[in-house]
Amino acid sequence: MVVGNLRNAQVVIDRQAIKYNVREEVKRLKQGTELFAVVKADGYGHGMVPVAQAAQAAGATGFCVAILDEALGLREAHFTAPILVLGITRPELAEIAASQHISLTVGSKDWLVAAKNAMTKQSHIEPLAVHLGIDSGMGRIGFTQVVDFLAAVAFIKQNPEYFIFEGIFTHFATADEQDTTYFQQQVKKFNAYVAQLDQRPRYVHVSNSATSLWHDACNGNMVRFGVAIYGLNPSGTAISELPYPLQPALSLTSEIVFCKQIHAGDSVSYGATYTAEADEYIGTVPMGYADGWLRRLQGFHVLVDGHPCEIVGRICMDQFMIRLPKPYDVGTKVTLIGEDQGAEITLQEVAAYSDTIHYELACILTNRLPRKYIN
Ligand SMILES: *Cc1c(COP(=O)(O)O)cnc(C)c1O
Repeated sequence: MVVGNLRNAQVVIDRQAIKYNVREEVKRLKQGTELFAVVKADGYGHGMVPVAQAAQAAGATGFCVAILDEALGLREAHFTAPILVLGITRPELAEIAASQHISLTVGSKDWLVAAKNAMTKQSHIEPLAVHLGIDSGMGRIGFTQVVDFLAAVAFIKQNPEYFIFEGIFTHFATADEQDTTYFQQQVKKFNAYVAQLDQRPRYVHVSNSATSLWHDACNGNMVRFGVAIYGLNPSGTAISELPYPLQPALSLTSEIVFCKQIHAGDSVSYGATYTAEADEYIGTVPMGYADGWLRRLQGFHVLVDGHPCEIVGRICMDQFMIRLPKPYDVGTKVTLIGEDQGAEITLQEVAAYSDTIHYELACILTNRLPRKYIN
């Protein structure tokens, strides 16, 4: 992937915001509860390694990722803290994970059997640390029957040279909603699994950001803190009360590369879907849907000189046009996400306009946009 280091558009990440969000959450955790920073998907588009560094400096004691490659990326970047892969990894890769002290999520005894068989073929093995995932209602991965879970626990016990039972966890489907009925059902189901154990593993964890922020009584002894690290409210706008004001870490800025006056009847961009009704000034911004600035954002706005300016005409792959209140010089700053002179556009507002969630938008800002780190 070519990174556009020379272009006039960038994702700006404020490390202090990440540190602040992590520090505030660590302060709220019960004594003995750890915060693992979730840095999957390139740190939700913010950059995995810089985010991991900032989170660790602020008190995170481990990391969660989605896939083994991300875990290996952290090890390559010399992080020695515990890492948990949250998705299902192929059992043939158990040995690679074990040798790098990467913990894997397991959702069936079959997986353990397959991993053991694969490991047996290796000349030297280290035991693999596993976290047993319980499907208490998310319906995604994990044990759905207590008997199967107990069979897996027994299998781990019988094979101590292959496996370490390091964790048990679940994931909530509705922790970010006002109505807690379904959430409470999941808590109950998960607790029934934990109650079956003679001895708890090192980590018992259930909390994503929403759970840790709003249901901290059931945190366990580790939280998987994700979207809130980046300063985003996990609920979007459903729950506005927060224990501390989250600080968004990401801004997206560019500049005007071309400015002109058009006249009544002149059209702008593909399909000529926008036609001026009077004389107006049009600025061109060198970003487009190939950067993750979605085509459906036509009609939304950006900030120029603290003023909202409408996006007119279709958004192209690499450029889009805005209507300006007056002519502006080439090089004038354009803020797509973030603050400008007291005005602000949040990722949540962009998400609401484009009918999605801020999680998705952060992840789809492509790597053609360079990431710049401040503070
Ligand atoms: C992604 C993920 C998280 C983090 O969720 P946030 O809502 O971003 O805090 C936690 N746990 C699991 C299993 C996940 O997949």
